Amino acid sequence: MFTEDTIAAIATAPGVGGVGIIRVSGAKAFPLVDALFAGKSAVPLTERPNRSIQYGRIVDPKTGRTVDEVLLLLMKGPHSYTAEDVIEIQCHGGPVVVRELLRLVLSSGARLAEPGEFTKRAFLNGRIDLTQAEAVIDIIEANGEAALGVAVGQLDGTLATWIRRLREELLTMVARLEVTIDYPEEDIEEVTTAEVAASLTPIMADMQHLLATAKSGRMVREGITTAIVGRPNAGKSSLMNALLRENRAIVTDIPGTTRDTIEEGMTIEGISLRLIDTAGIRDTEDIVEKLGVERAKEYVSAADIVICVIDGSTALSEEEKDILETLKGRTAVVFINKADIATAITAEDIAPYGPFAAVAAISAANGEGLDVLGHVVKELVYGGEVQGDRGAMLSNIRHINLMETALALLTQAKENLEAGLSVDFIVTDMRSAWETLGDITGDSLRESMVDELFSRFCLGK
Ligand code: GDP
Ligand code: ZN
Repeated sequence: MFTEDTIAAIATAPGVGGVGIIRVSGAKAFPLVDALFAGKSAVPLTERPNRSIQYGRIVDPKTGRTVDEVLLLLMKGPHSYTAEDVIEIQCHGGPVVVRELLRLVLSSGARLAEPGEFTKRAFLNGRIDLTQAEAVIDIIEANGEAALGVAVGQLDGTLATWIRRLREELLTMVARLEVTIDYPEEDIEEVTTAEVAASLTPIMADMQHLLATAKSGRMVREGITTAIVGRPNAGKSSLMNALLRENRAIVTDIPGTTRDTIEEGMTIEGISLRLIDTAGIRDTEDIVEKLGVERAKEYVSAADIVICVIDGSTALSEEEKDILETLKGRTAVVFINKADIATAITAEDIAPYGPFAAVAAISAANGEGLDVLGHVVKELVYGGEVQGDRGAMLSNIRHINLMETALALLTQAKENLEAGLSVDFIVTDMRSAWETLGDITGDSLRESMVDELFSRFCLGK
């Protein structure tokens, strides 16, 4: 154990709930809670069965007053979340009760935990690696089933296991190269460098492969930015409402909603979408409309998917043709709207402006045809690049950046090897790559990075 402190925090969300949970972790967790606990049996908590649930009351030792009826969940280290002795006190879920219990636990010797400190301890005690700790944050923050799936996959340590194997191979190569520095015989060096260059190739291919999952991983994790464009009255707002009616995200806390646009979150095929309606801005005077067109173009270039709504009740206007032109090279879905009342435009009229990910006649009014969007989303996320066949998917920007850096270092090392440069240079680059990969798992422990990372957690986690 790296510390003697026993820490405590409220583990449940603030507010009223069915149950509230206080989590206590550390060497003194059991005696400390025992001093407040009154149950039927007089057997000390330390001697009760591990992983059992104990019923009783928490009593304020100063006043003798019962604060609440509780269930204690006993988990002895190292087989607990933090790898230390842990007790979870389950009480009634009122905010006053929970706070009062926490106050008692603190006054009997525990220290209030910092945000993420339980998970940090799990990491520092060697129970989980950094990618697993980050997976815990991702699970908490998951915006849809797909993001949850990636996070849970990361929690099992697949990514870390793979990276550790990679690091071992690199270290073996570094060792072999270093031998040639000590014994600088020409032919040995030549053979070794050729061998190392050859064994770098599959490693770098694996890294590239994993990096190729990053775009999908990012979209799954952060949500797909989806811009809805189209001329005034095409039915953009109606479409947005129709999509949200079926799929509104549970969490719609999206920063960045501006006066000019409306942003909403929705989930489709388990994947989160940030829908941006470029409405409002275009419905008034000419000058504002021009600004709107410019603005719409900005959104188009920043979006992962563009949904272009065409008014299907009248022939294509010049403005609509312009908008269709701006979609070149984008993942775009063209919805010919108002299919319930008109068919003035067909998919054939749109096709020449393509190719588009999909063209479909829809009705924002009755919801007809909208399911096409789900197919496009799935294709975009899972279609092109297969998910890592190791089951690992890079979704975390920190991991992606480090992986890119490590790959760049190895690319340089390989080039230098092939150019016959001094082995010292090559060894330096390979060592840096090895360190950089270790930053992903937390194996090359850099304290500032670890602190920064765990401060992102909520209290009690
Ligand atoms: P926006 O300016 O692009 O946001 O368009 P709105 O969503 O405000 O819709 C403009 C008008 O078209 C409104 O009167 C809507 O009721 C109507 N509208 C939108 N979608 C449909 C549809 O699918 N069918 C019909 N019949 N009317 C629609
Ligand atoms: Zn509108």
